[in-house]
Amino acid sequence: MQRDQMLRQLADETFDLLIIGGGITGVGVAREATRRGIRTALVEQRDFAWGTSSRSTKLIHGGLRYLRNLEFGLVRESVVERQKLLRMAPHLVHPLPFVFPVYTGDPDPLWMLKIGLMMYDWFSGKDTQIPHRMARGKAVLQWEPLLKQDGLVGAGIYQDCATDDARLTIEVLQSAVQWGAVAANYAAVTGFRHDASGKLEAVEVEDTLTGQRFPIRAKRVLSACGPWADIVRRMDDPSAPPLLRLTKGVHIAVRRERLPLTNAVTMRGTDGRIMFAIPSGAFTYLGTTDTDYSGRPEDVRVEREDVEYILKAAHKNFPGQKLGFDDVVSAWAGLRPLVRSQAADPSAVSRGYELFPSASGLVTVAGGKLTAFRAMASHIVDYLFPATK
Ligand SMILES: Cc1cc2nc3c(=O)[nH]c(=O)nc-3n(C[C@H](O)[C@H](O)[C@H](O)COP(=O)(O)OP(=O)(O)OC[C@H]3O[C@@H](n4cnc5c(N)ncnc54)[C@H](O)[C@@H]3O)c2cc1C
Repeated sequence: MQRDQMLRQLADETFDLLIIGGGITGVGVAREATRRGIRTALVEQRDFAWGTSSRSTKLIHGGLRYLRNLEFGLVRESVVERQKLLRMAPHLVHPLPFVFPVYTGDPDPLWMLKIGLMMYDWFSGKDTQIPHRMARGKAVLQWEPLLKQDGLVGAGIYQDCATDDARLTIEVLQSAVQWGAVAANYAAVTGFRHDASGKLEAVEVEDTLTGQRFPIRAKRVLSACGPWADIVRRMDDPSAPPLLRLTKGVHIAVRRERLPLTNAVTMRGTDGRIMFAIPSGAFTYLGTTDTDYSGRPEDVRVEREDVEYILKAAHKNFPGQKLGFDDVVSAWAGLRPLVRSQAADPSAVSRGYELFPSASGLVTVAGGKLTAFRAMASHIVDYLFPATK
């Protein structure tokens, strides 16, 4: 990709579609649109995948826990997408077995886990490579011997997938560019120009490496800005009400030898929330937290209490390992751009997505998951360009 050349094209041409945001949502839409012959441009304020799309749990998964929120459609779509990505990008999406232990006093009994796992297998249909299995009591330790033994009722083992979220985003973008998309990083949208009737006329962009400013013209404009969606929406309409509820998710990594797992473990935190411990190369990473966040998206940080919360969960599930602050070799924080709801518990807010058109013609996408980016992109392009369905 030649950035200078891309910037010249962005300034000179009128596009069918301009996408603001180079996370998985934006690049997914860019790829889908260019494949349909739509002349597409994309701008990203920092580097591609700099936002939430490099700070996730890195799972391509159905999201077993969303079954509890009765989000069957979301889980089914995600499982189907997982199976497709596994076939399309085996170098980026790897099968990963998960052990889900159940202890006395857990919110969901073993039989409920069994039903959830049966649905999970059923959603992936004949593509289920390894159907789930169940074990009772200490038989679970054959799978993960470091798990706490006290109160262990049983467990299920099932398959999901892991990926490198940032690399997935970059490869989808590369594919979009091969199909003809024009994309530039370090190109931040700073404002919108409207015509006399209030419709979008141009999008103002700053090349943050040189300070040069220029307008981009496009027939349709999509804001795929993740946690920044409300900020960009207010550039278009200062009175626009907030769409998002931002929740912070933190992960920590420890050396693999300090928590040597064979499988990923779906574990419960001290408050009963579902969390993960995921073996990955020389490390095992654990997370995530899920707390409301009200600061500027770019200021999101790992706080001491986030690490403490995860370490307590690690201690609850793997007490023999005695993991402490000194074991933490890395940590990262991301923001979930969830569509606002009245739910008191952030974990109960839907991971689905919605489109919000403004009076000027700007369309904002809010919510979503890494896993379902292809399906989401297809729906968004159908919506923006119905004639290309
Ligand atoms: C802790 C955590 C764990 C998660 N785990 C998983 C998981 O395991 N599996 C899964 O499927 N999903 C997961 N998700 C959800 C998933 O990561 C997100 O839904 C997805 O990455 C959002 O992508 P996005 O492109 O919408 O947003 P982002 O990746 O945040 O991209 C938005 C981009 O817009 C850019 N931008 C903002 N303002 C401007 C501007 N003015 N001009 C130009 N560009 C701008 C930003 O710089 C940013 O790069 C997780 C989320 C979190 C927070």
